[in-house]
Amino acid sequence: METLALFGMEMAELTERMAALGQKPYRARQVFEALYRQRVATLEEITTLPVALREDLKAQGFVVGLPEIVQTAKSVDGTERYLVRLDDGETVETVWMPGGDGGERGDGSEAAIEEEGEDGDPTDAVEIRTHVSAPSKNKYGGSSPSAQNDNLKEGDGYKRATICISSQVGCAVNCQFCLTAKLGIRRNLTSGEIAGQVAAVLNRQRVRIGSGRGVETPSRINLVFMGMGEPFLNYDAFMGSVHVLRAMGIPESRMTVSTSGIEPSIRRFAEEPVRPKLALSLNASNDVVRESIMPVTRKWNIAMLLDAVRSIPLGKREYVTFEYVLLGGVNDQPEHAREVLALLSGMKAKVNLIVWNPGPGIDFKQPAPEDVAVFHRMLIDGEIPTFTRRPRGRDIFAACGQLKRTVEPGLVEISRAAV
Ligand code: SAH
Ligand code: SF4
Repeated sequence: METLALFGMEMAELTERMAALGQKPYRARQVFEALYRQRVATLEEITTLPVALREDLKAQGFVVGLPEIVQTAKSVDGTERYLVRLDDGETVETVWMPGGDGGERGDGSEAAIEEEGEDGDPTDAVEIRTHVSAPSKNKYGGSSPSAQNDNLKEGDGYKRATICISSQVGCAVNCQFCLTAKLGIRRNLTSGEIAGQVAAVLNRQRVRIGSGRGVETPSRINLVFMGMGEPFLNYDAFMGSVHVLRAMGIPESRMTVSTSGIEPSIRRFAEEPVRPKLALSLNASNDVVRESIMPVTRKWNIAMLLDAVRSIPLGKREYVTFEYVLLGGVNDQPEHAREVLALLSGMKAKVNLIVWNPGPGIDFKQPAPEDVAVFHRMLIDGEIPTFTRRPRGRDIFAACGQLKRTVEPGLVEISRAAV
């Protein structure tokens, strides 16, 4: 019999499904609470429903349908990478970064800024402060050695972490520097599969959000849609997942979606009443370079993308983040930094510099550390808040662009998850 996943259904659909079984709307509400607040893994756990109804649901083929963590790899820095199995046997990767920074710092999210105000934590990303002329401008925190170790803050009321989730199995966009591109596109994820990665990870980490299930104290969770796939080529499921994730108690202000630049989807996104923060993978300072590393630029060039981004009505404290992967000798020179400054002038922009992570079969060079520092400083001098992203989980290939479904034996050590 075909199974039907309840996880991922919004209130309206649950109500319809319950009505079809002759049930009152409050039953749908109970299922909703169980799925998204308690994060049950099985129908048996929905104890608010009478046993007979649970049996009925089962007989009709309903399951909770959370994706399952089937393998884990743990980095020395605390990052954990999961291989997550979907219903049809396809797998995606999801990353848990205790302490944060899968890009939510300096990602245009107020969340990161607020957090500093609240807990006085130094930022995970390293910001060069010396060249910021007015210190009052610098509310983003500075670098500190302790930033390297503030993985999981517990004991003072909450712990925080960032979860990086996938939106597709593989990716069709074909960026030349990205390992996921090598997979090609296999299929889109459903909204339940996208949000379900978060539920599976939170259950594994026993994280409680609000009054939901879990043993830890209330937690600060940031989400970044920066795993495998291009969320804006799976737009409806991505937006559906945002609604499900909100039902799970994660506000959209703590979510950041990253796109390679799918212009029509950016325009749609601008119209959404409820939307996460946006990060655009700029990655080059002019169309010639961008086309050579991101062929999608032929369809939508930088000017078109920036126009679309400008159409987004930003909140008072909201910024758009521009991600910029530094590729040695390709886009990391002072002339490129100058071009970036010109492109972003007048915009409420932040820049997230990412030192390129190498991968097998990908022919780029990492940038020289001096070039990274000069690039960073030039942007700061141009008054663009700039962060250089601290690479997480490099030893387990969990860092940006390293999420590749197949696991090369010998490259990473994978342990069977205790599930
Ligand atoms: N498809 C979306 C989101 C996933 S990729 C996008 O491209 O924006 C998330 C980020 O990782 C993007 O900014 C991308 O440019 C970056 N990235 C991809 N491969 C990388 C690599 N090998 N090293 C560093 N960053 C990489
Ligand atoms: Fe796809 Fe993003 Fe990788 Fe480009 S960088 S191939 S859009 S996952």
